[in-house]
Amino acid sequence: MRSAILDRFVQKVAQIIQTEGAACFSIGVADNRLHPQAIVSRRDGTTSDSLGHVDIDADGSFAEAVTEALGQKGPVVLTEPTQIDELTVDPPVLIMPIIWERDPLESEEEPVRRPVGILTLWAKRDQRYDDDDYKLVETLSGQAAALLVEEQLDEFDDIQAAFATVPVGLMLLGPDNRVMVANAAAMRIIGADPLQGREIKAIDYGNQLTELMNEVRASDEGNAAASYVSVDNENYSVSAQLTQEGQTIIAFTQSPFSTAAEELTGQVAHELRTPLTVIQGNLQTIEVMIEAGVQPEDQEIIQEFIETALIQSSRMFRLIAETLNISRIHAGKELELEVEEFDLIEALNQILEELADYLMSHELDINAPDELIIEGDRGKIISIFDNYLKNAAKYSDTGSTITVSIHEIDDGEIAIEVTDQGIGIPPEDLARIGKEAGFRTDLSKDQAGGIGLGMVYTRRVTEAHGGRMEIDSTVGEGSTFRSIIPKRPER
Ligand code: ADP
Repeated sequence: MRSAILDRFVQKVAQIIQTEGAACFSIGVADNRLHPQAIVSRRDGTTSDSLGHVDIDADGSFAEAVTEALGQKGPVVLTEPTQIDELTVDPPVLIMPIIWERDPLESEEEPVRRPVGILTLWAKRDQRYDDDDYKLVETLSGQAAALLVEEQLDEFDDIQAAFATVPVGLMLLGPDNRVMVANAAAMRIIGADPLQGREIKAIDYGNQLTELMNEVRASDEGNAAASYVSVDNENYSVSAQLTQEGQTIIAFTQSPFSTAAEELTGQVAHELRTPLTVIQGNLQTIEVMIEAGVQPEDQEIIQEFIETALIQSSRMFRLIAETLNISRIHAGKELELEVEEFDLIEALNQILEELADYLMSHELDINAPDELIIEGDRGKIISIFDNYLKNAAKYSDTGSTITVSIHEIDDGEIAIEVTDQGIGIPPEDLARIGKEAGFRTDLSKDQAGGIGLGMVYTRRVTEAHGGRMEIDSTVGEGSTFRSIIPKRPER
């Protein structure tokens, strides 16, 4: 899945530097190619899907400039029109390497500086890039690095999802024996976080992985297996496989075992990364803009950056509260409501803003009155929308419509409804959703990752308000999730 955040990010870069086009490419983990991740091109409708991969070692001015920029780890500007795959772009074309940097974690380690992609800008409106632009683009490329590294981790998490019953630790080592990517399970097993960028010998408890690497390099088939004992004295099988590019894939497996609590921690950490990346990125950009001297026309952009950061921080608070509440439910405790009077429509607008990145690839259709004052726990009712909306986006194709409907029904009740045009739910599974923690339909497992707790929470919140949850669904057509709650809960 392409990251909506990267799309927005590239749009922002083009807007701030005032260029006609901008694109962000990642450097393939397993090949020496540029993979388009996000692109804006004001004059034509090129998208990252229509743009092909670019070979870094190919002939042509663009590939040569990319090699130069990656080599010198700094900007390169082309003054002639150039060809990026099928797309001809106008000068000046700025190519900035995206370098992922991390300070040494332990005193004997080197800091990590690894190119993970490039940011390219073309057709600047006033025709010249100056030092301020370079500085700004460099800072922005630092943010892109965080986003790209996160994408790589997501890709790995997707691979991991394919091994449903065993928690598989996966990592990819470069020919220099440094970790290129590693998933959460690998970090947990090895007992080091992060792993990325570190040399194997710095994280190798008892020299076990070094021996495995020696063995795999010596083997004719390019693979080797051994057992691995973790620092916590747990036993794993570990296997190594050499790739054609001289990289090594290492996989750790353990007997089937997982606890909902462990998965939940992983999920929360994952969910929190997105708002945090946005907040941190926005603050860094504002800092650089202020250092470069704020122009009157920058005011609006800065204001927008601050607003998005504030919105995302309120989202973080709510995700943390939701996690605490889920663990309370697990411990068999009742949900406590903090009831207040509030406008449900205003609450809906808040969550729509918070989820802007999740929802930007779908059409939204909102059917709601201008105002609807109800009594309830505002934060928890926002969580109902949050979970319905996130699922609607997750379990349907991009470009399809998500409909939100809020209406009053008889007997002083209101209905909160989210309808998607997605994969749907088989009739025999309907009754289990929201009741069985961890339950997921087979259909949904092919579509997206998840742990099956959001609907349990949503149902509990609905019922704690004296309401009920209903699901209507047809496989292949879509689903409607509905919470019916009293306008004023009984005290
Ligand atoms: P998850 O983290 O797995 O999405 P939820 O508790 O939110 O957990 O949902 C439980 C399961 O219900 C999902 O795994 C999926 O099988 C099904 N489901 C929820 N929402 C939808 C939807 N809009 N369309 C199809 N299936 C859905």
